[in-house]
Amino acid sequence: MTEGPAELAAEAVRYAIDGQPLLHGIDLTARPGETVGVVGPNGSGKTTLLRCVYGALRPTGGRVLLDGADAASLGVKDRARRVAVVPQDAAGTFGLTVREVVAMGRSPHKRFWEQDGPDDVRRVARALDTVGAAALADRRFDGLSGGERQRALVARALVQDPGLLALDEPTNHLDIRYQLEILGLVRALPATALLVLHDLNLAAMYCDRLYVLAGGRVAACGTPAEVLTEPLLAEVYGVRTRIATHPTTGAPHIVYLPDGGDGDGVRTGF
Ligand code: ADP
Repeated sequence: MTEGPAELAAEAVRYAIDGQPLLHGIDLTARPGETVGVVGPNGSGKTTLLRCVYGALRPTGGRVLLDGADAASLGVKDRARRVAVVPQDAAGTFGLTVREVVAMGRSPHKRFWEQDGPDDVRRVARALDTVGAAALADRRFDGLSGGERQRALVARALVQDPGLLALDEPTNHLDIRYQLEILGLVRALPATALLVLHDLNLAAMYCDRLYVLAGGRVAACGTPAEVLTEPLLAEVYGVRTRIATHPTTGAPHIVYLPDGGDGDGVRTGF
């Protein structure tokens, strides 16, 4: 398995539970180093797709290729060396300190009886500092606020040194400053990133490409400017919008129109 940013390809990925299809054959790619966003309404299959990609679910059809190898054939530890996950809920953290939770990210790189070495300790401290959580290191993880936990989970993913970072709504619970910081950090990492995001304007600012899911299918994919159009947002989300341009990044910026309003007078440029 190669090192460095991973190449991801989901090919015709299907997932069904009790005969009920949740994903209907998803094709998705991420080139090494790309930041790819998965957006779409509630229940459209975003989390299910992400879980298929990072191996928490086994697709019932199609396959996920990581650097050309079928991800399903990788052992748990091999996959953990290449893929770090920031999930929506953090299982297996009860009673641990923040430092211990973050240090869990080093375990794929060690033998299971091996103690943390000086390099592991340094990486954990650096990651905590990077996400602004150094002062939380000795606090119990389950006593943290939602936003503090989220930052600790991002730090855990950072120390894993992944080729692919899979993040499920990483900005959940974060105030706007940390939303911007965490997304900026993810984008700057020498890793491929696949993120489920709700905020379309942040997705437009930080993602190279977007996949829009609707009803377990890809409704659109492309650059934010290609994908975030007024007709597409009306069709997929049932909302009326005007698309403006971000004044410094040039990314599309969505202005939402109030329900029932006709949008007259809304300026589409800044
Ligand atoms: P999203 O992340 O886009 O909100 P999900 O991937 O969580 O969507 O869910 C997609 C659909 O699959 C939803 O309708 C959800 O209710 C359903 N679903 C997800 N997990 C299960 C499950 N374990 N059993 C039954 N239905 C599920």
